[in-house]
Amino acid sequence: MVKRIAMAQLTSCWGCDQALVDLHLKLLDILPELDIVYWPAVVDYKMKDLESMRDDSIHIGLVEGCVRTEHDMHILQTMRKKSKILVAWGSCSCFGGVQGLANLRDVDELLKRKFKEVESITHATIPKENVPPFVDFIQPNVDIVPFEIMLPGCPPTGDNTLEALTALLTGKPFDLPEKTVCDQCPKTREEKHITGFHRAHEGEIDPDKCLLDQGWLCLGFATIGMCDAQCPTVNTPCKGCFGPSPKIKDHGAKIISALGAITDMEPEELEKAFPDPIGSFYFTDYAASYLSKIRAKSRRKSK
Ligand code: SF4
Ligand code: SF4
Ligand code: SF4
Repeated sequence: MVKRIAMAQLTSCWGCDQALVDLHLKLLDILPELDIVYWPAVVDYKMKDLESMRDDSIHIGLVEGCVRTEHDMHILQTMRKKSKILVAWGSCSCFGGVQGLANLRDVDELLKRKFKEVESITHATIPKENVPPFVDFIQPNVDIVPFEIMLPGCPPTGDNTLEALTALLTGKPFDLPEKTVCDQCPKTREEKHITGFHRAHEGEIDPDKCLLDQGWLCLGFATIGMCDAQCPTVNTPCKGCFGPSPKIKDHGAKIISALGAITDMEPEELEKAFPDPIGSFYFTDYAASYLSKIRAKSRRKSK
């Protein structure tokens, strides 16, 4: 039977949708099995089209992006109501994404910075018209409504999405792998005694050796292996965009604890090496961290 599929977008960059389109001819393997009933990124569907569907009438619902506004919240809750199987599509959906870093500031501060203080601003006005109200902080979608499948990645590769959809269409289970990016990486690793870190543009890389061993912060050891180590393979350190491997509860905490074990550096030296520790250690998943959750809890209490 042809399955009804819907792809909804919350606050996001559309990269997950684009990665799907990147599949090109491989899409022909699954498209005949799918009836696309909602995909506003590509066709001009309206919210009322989604709202008017029967509950549970969508076989597979994919949600890209995080909840930044009350409108996002409405889309997410409607998708949950209308979908039998809901997929958290991409790291925004699974963990809050890069936007989760905004949890370090209050909404008022963010609006002031974005619309009044940014150096390129010419008309310093905070827009009010046709702007949905913001929620106070970003949470992973999976903390708001239940999902059947998590598909992390920023974006998930087209092949990741194809694999998940193929499993759903054939009734097979789809589980996240326990391997890390390091397990997929072709570079040679040695026992680590790191005495200093280079910035991305500094130094000369030995292409055969582990980047972390050579002093570039490569987060492959704590990051789920679903991308075939595409960055380190071309000598770019992994930033951890797919989030932690399933056994790790808090990505950044794992990274910090590992750095404590593998570096021969004083805390002051580490602090200097990473002037933006939250951005460096929680690239796409700060909203899912213990730190962010504790901060959100104390904000709620102080209101
Ligand atoms: S997960 Fe990454 S690629 Fe996908 S929408 Fe979010 S920011 Fe864009
Ligand atoms: S280069 Fe990065 S991904 Fe490859 S083995 Fe070293 S830490 Fe792991
Ligand atoms: S290597 Fe790391 S940063 Fe690059 S795509 Fe994979 S998980 Fe993301």
